[in-house]
Formats: sequence, C-alpha cells, structure tokens
Amino acid sequence: MTTPTIELKPSAHPLAAAEREAILASPGFGRHFTDHMVTIKWTEGRGWHDGQLVPYAPIPLDPATNVLHYAQEIFEGLKAYRQPDGSVATFRPDQNAKRFQRSARRLAMPELPVETFVEACDALVRQDQDWVPAHGGEESLYLRPFMIATEVGLGVKPANEYLFIVIASPAGAYFPGGVKPVSIWVSEDRVRAVPGGMGDAKTGGNYAASLLAQAEAAAKGCDQVCYLDAVEHQWVEELGGMNLYFVYGNKIVTPTLTGSILEGVTRDSLLAVARDLGYESEEGRVSAAQWQRDAENGTLTEVFACGTAAVITPVGTVKRASAEWKQSGSEPGEVTLRLRQALLDIQRGTAADQHGWMHKI
Ligand code: PMP
Repeated sequence: MTTPTIELKPSAHPLAAAEREAILASPGFGRHFTDHMVTIKWTEGRGWHDGQLVPYAPIPLDPATNVLHYAQEIFEGLKAYRQPDGSVATFRPDQNAKRFQRSARRLAMPELPVETFVEACDALVRQDQDWVPAHGGEESLYLRPFMIATEVGLGVKPANEYLFIVIASPAGAYFPGGVKPVSIWVSEDRVRAVPGGMGDAKTGGNYAASLLAQAEAAAKGCDQVCYLDAVEHQWVEELGGMNLYFVYGNKIVTPTLTGSILEGVTRDSLLAVARDLGYESEEGRVSAAQWQRDAENGTLTEVFACGTAAVITPVGTVKRASAEWKQSGSEPGEVTLRLRQALLDIQRGTAADQHGWMHKI
C-alpha cells in the first residue's frame, strides 16, 4: 500500500494571536477549530493520494454524495497535551489508528496505514502547535480524524472514493469546578448496538442512534445513558460515549468486549494503570441487577466511566424504570480519583511513561 506524504500548504492568514488566546482562555468542547486541517483522498485503483495540510475550510459536497444518504463514515478522537518542557505529545495515537482500521473494515472502507494516520495527526499538531493549551491544567487539543464516502450517486454499495480529514479543536477542562459524579439512566428498551452490528466501530450511525435515549435520560434528570446488551437486556455494556468500570474494593472490573462495545483506549490503558498502582483489574460480566444489589450491600465501592474526553468520570445516582440507587456518597471515590490522577500525570508528562504511550511530536 502506498503511503502518501503530506504536502504543506499553510494558511497566509492564521487567526491573530490575541484572538486565539481569547479562545484558549475558555475553549469549551468542539466549538472552535484551529487554522488548518489535513486531507487525504482515496480512489479505487489508485489508493491513498493527495495528502495535504491546508487552511481549515468548508468542504463542498454534491447533494448526492454517498455519505449524506447511507452514512458510510467513521471517526476517531484523541488528544495532544502540552508537556512540562513545552513540547507536545499525543496519547497512544497508534491505538486510535488501529481502531480506525477496524472501523474501516466494518464499514467496508479502505484502511489507512497506521503510520499515515499518525503522520496526519502529527502534521496538524506541528502546524497548529500554538493552539495546544499551556501545561499545568487539564486542557488539551482534541484531534478528530474522520473519513467519509465521497462517491456521488444513490446506489447502496461501498463507495469508490473516500476523503480522510483531520481537524483539531482546543478542549477545556471537563470538570472546571472539580470532579463531580454524573447520574446514569439505565435504558431497558433502547439498545445502542446488537450482536453482529457495528457497536465496536466508531461510526456516526451509533451516535445518531443514541440521541433519543440521551434525550429520554435528560427528561429523567440523568446526565448519561447506560446501555444493556440487546439480547437479554440485563448485561451492562457501556455509556453512549464512555466505557464503564466497577470498583470492588481493591479490584476494578470492566465489561468484557462483546462486539457491541467500543474498545476504548482509556479503558485499555486503565487495565494496566490499575495494576501499576497495585489494584487488580479484569474484564467480566456485570448485570444491572448485580449493580443495584452490590451498590446497596456495599461490596461495590465505586463506579466510574472513562473515555478520551473526560478521562475518568465518577458515577453517582443510577436510575432505571423499576429502581433508583446511589453509589455511596456524592463525592468521587478514592480509587476513581487515584486512577484519574495517574492517567492524567502520564498524559501531561509529570509521571514516568513506563508503557511508552506518549508520542512526541
Ligand atoms: N465508548 C464509546 C461509545 C465512545 O464513543 C467512546 C469515545 N471514543 C468510548 C467508549 C471511549 O473510548 P476512548 O477511551 O478511546 O475515548
């Protein structure tokens, strides 16, 4: 497979420093974008070609472009962090690249080589490095690589043309006022993914399918939806955009990957970080009934969600149609906070990177 080089065509008019700094002072999430983007095309018979770094701009699409109708689309999310010496590093970009390849296979799309994915992210971060927030806080630069089917036509088939793009957006601290537990609505009638479906692919359709359940959760006064398995409607899978961990004293347990759960990079990293800190970590099955019972009898000491955006989010109140229970106390648990700090320290370069996870740019 050919690996295209990325031709640099930077903007003659990047945003003025003062305006950029004003955005970085209060970036929110996904609201502002940096000055550039990387684009790479794929055409049947030719492979990957025309890799470019260009000014961030709208992409004109014919109304009959395939992706607009049949959602042949995949995406990724990863972060670049300012290091204590002023340099910038991304966290495990190879893992996102490999997941992007798995998503591509599931959606019958071409697989971008891992090194091209990483180089595209590197090129954008290098060019827009002034957009990476300063070291010290929990701010970062969020990278959003994605790929769409660009063939024009209404036939339902894998497209013969694709466009890969990476954009970047400064991200503020997820919990500016301190880490606070989220409330969870356990959905019993809506599922996120089915066996044989595409739950383990990062594709827009999974998120479109989650919006109604999310609105229902909000109507019940909850922040996030927890999905159960689609067959027995009892096994805990994950949240709409985060994996889950159950803390039993000294042991943390996350639902086993079933094919309908997204394999989170944070989830995988925590299996190792927990062991580094002397905890046991394992994959296993947890039912909603067990969750309630163990929370009520006190053996389940903490629950948290994890993902790139928030790193680790403690879970507080849990509601389902037939019941409501509280994880002990309204403050985040000790194991949750320790794991959160340990992972953040690696990402911000203030702890030893013993697993070789940080990728310097
Ligand atoms: N599950 C879903 C459905 C997600 O969208 C995400 C975010 N990518 C995750 C889990 C967490 O994955 P990661 O740790 O790689 O961000």
